[in-house]
Amino acid sequence: MNTENKTIHDFELNLICDFFSSMERQGPGSPEATLKALSFIDNLTDKSLIADIGCGTGGQTMVLAQHVRGQVTGLDLFPGFINIFNRNVRKLGLQDRVEGIVGSMDNLPFQEEELDLIWSEGAIYNIGFERGLNEWRKYLKTGGYIAVSESSWFTDERPKEINDFWMDAYPEIDTIPNQVAKIHKAGYLPVATFILPENCWTEHYLALKIEAQKIFLDKYAGNQIAEEFSALQSVEDELYHKYKAFYGYVFFIAKKISPFPNPQTR
Ligand code: SAH
Repeated sequence: MNTENKTIHDFELNLICDFFSSMERQGPGSPEATLKALSFIDNLTDKSLIADIGCGTGGQTMVLAQHVRGQVTGLDLFPGFINIFNRNVRKLGLQDRVEGIVGSMDNLPFQEEELDLIWSEGAIYNIGFERGLNEWRKYLKTGGYIAVSESSWFTDERPKEINDFWMDAYPEIDTIPNQVAKIHKAGYLPVATFILPENCWTEHYLALKIEAQKIFLDKYAGNQIAEEFSALQSVEDELYHKYKAFYGYVFFIAKKISPFPNPQTR
């Protein structure tokens, strides 16, 4: 039974990986949005240690690495993504200071107070926004930054269809002021917040996803699990077009200003 489950589980992970690995990025974002988030961060030097958590194939990591000095470690759960990541690193000649490693965001291989910057685009939801903020904080030096993008509600109320979709997919989605309050509660100074422009979804994500979907469906023609997975992707895309006034991705940039947790949370 165990073996059977494991096989199915592995196959699904491989399917997901296969679907997204032909895409330059695996979530909404753009080089411009990455650089805008980076513009709020100071004090980086060639000695800085930077981690990109849930880096995927590293679309945003490469942009980041080309605009900062210092050592950059990309970490992702999927070995297939990390292989592509490291291939891209070599193509760009960044192998002296950029490396992709396989690992899990709930068990990071870093030392306490080691990192100058934690980056994570469209990935913290895998552990949960508040849990990620709380657990990752100890790896940051005092004065270090965290920059994460996360799905957010733009309004206090929204149509039932989209509300139900998110309550099922990721009930921790919240409004921007509530997310900023969580950042403060987790012991950071909220530094900047901006909504990712629509082209981060349409041009840099959904358009690539449609291409990836064609390749995927050709490859897995007749495979029911693959077809269901692909259909789910289409539902997500349609919902975005229908309800984009109510939700999107938001970049949050925050600074660890004290080694001690926020006194209000003790
Ligand atoms: N940051 C990339 C990828 C976002 S998609 C981009 O913006 O394009 C979310 C990523 O989180 C995927 O690559 C997925 O493999 C990774 N992921 C999921 N669970 C994870 C975990 N527990 N630890 C590390 N990475 C994880």
